[in-house]
Amino acid sequence: MRTLYGNGWIVTMDDAGTEQAHGWVLVEDGVVRDVGAGEEPAGENRVDLAGAVVTPGLVNTHHHLYQTLTRARAQDADLFTWLRELYPTWAGIDAEAEYAAARTGLAELALSGCTTVFDHHYVFPRGREGLVEAEVQAARELGVRIVASRGSMDLGVSDGGLPPDELVEDIDAVLSDTERLHAALHESGPGARVQLAVAPCSPFSVTGRLMEESAALARRLDLPLHTHLAETVEEETYCRELYGCTPVEYLERLGWLAPDVWCAHCVHLAPAEIARFGETGTGVAHCPTSNLRLGAGVASVRELVDAGVRVGLGVDGSASNERSDLFAEVKQALLVARGRGGPRAMDAREALRLATRGGADVLGRDDIGSLEAGKQADLAVWSVDGLELGGAEDLVAGLVFSGPHRVDRLVVGGEDVVRGGALVRADEAEIARGHRVQARRFSSA
Ligand code: ZN
Repeated sequence: MRTLYGNGWIVTMDDAGTEQAHGWVLVEDGVVRDVGAGEEPAGENRVDLAGAVVTPGLVNTHHHLYQTLTRARAQDADLFTWLRELYPTWAGIDAEAEYAAARTGLAELALSGCTTVFDHHYVFPRGREGLVEAEVQAARELGVRIVASRGSMDLGVSDGGLPPDELVEDIDAVLSDTERLHAALHESGPGARVQLAVAPCSPFSVTGRLMEESAALARRLDLPLHTHLAETVEEETYCRELYGCTPVEYLERLGWLAPDVWCAHCVHLAPAEIARFGETGTGVAHCPTSNLRLGAGVASVRELVDAGVRVGLGVDGSASNERSDLFAEVKQALLVARGRGGPRAMDAREALRLATRGGADVLGRDDIGSLEAGKQADLAVWSVDGLELGGAEDLVAGLVFSGPHRVDRLVVGGEDVVRGGALVRADEAEIARGHRVQARRFSSA
């Protein structure tokens, strides 16, 4: 099956940053065969893009889908206060609620142009089964790729950690469940739709032993590693008091600064620590809206990119960024970089690159993130005939500056997930209704 997407402005995100302002993309069997401009090759199907901008599908590198159930809580709290308020509510999570939450978050992400979603799930109340499977089912039904995680917490409040004791698990239970999920769900190789990552939650909710054993297991199974790091000044104070060093020094001690690791946030890194991230190949998920919402600060993304660090974007959980819109993060990343470093700190195409190529690099995927021969046919098609782009000659910059936008068409592995701005395989109103029913169970009233 060959499909030719013609008459578009193709933003390839290849190494040279090639764009074809009057271009086409030829897709065969779910894979990009060729990208070009001018005379079109013959395709069995021809899709007329009518001048739309086409980018690689966006790649989300940090989320907690279950948090769609508890939005707009602890509205003026810092991270630790916010977590302490929400943990007891999150203890009610089960597979039914997780499924409704995942459908909602994944649908929002798809409609914002996102084709691959990493989700960091770390709340596993004892005896509740099927949580990760529920997310994976939701992703399969909607048609997006998911990198799910077996997260964990084993440092409860009585041992000096932040989460309540009833929400932490035994190390052996975490590791054996990770192995089980790896065997049941993980696909390897190009085009994988479902993958697994190993993701202990954070330095203040996980013991050093679980961090080390998680890394050993992930390396044996060839899975990537993820955690939260250096999100707030309070976290730094906590690490200094408990471990006698900064969060980054702590991570390095545990063998966690490495090319198979990426960390969410990394707001509070000293210049030497940024350099260590670059030297060790450790990646970063930059989540600007969540960091602003919790008043945590702004990551030094210009410096990270200049140090050669792999950087992607993340919406983060919906309890600290109430919107799962990855295109909104593209604009937010640009704005916060300029707020820190002036108007030359980041341009529109660099911001878009973080959300595509950058995200793919962070997840260790070389089959997605750009539109080049041999890559997966994951395309986001952005209409440019709306009110907000009138007068913009540079449509790519115009798109970023005027974001967010609802994607017009989203293609994953050559198959439509969104068409005409609507989900192809699910009904948005029905997802919202199902979610409302589940969210009521988590009401604070
Ligand atoms: Zn997070």
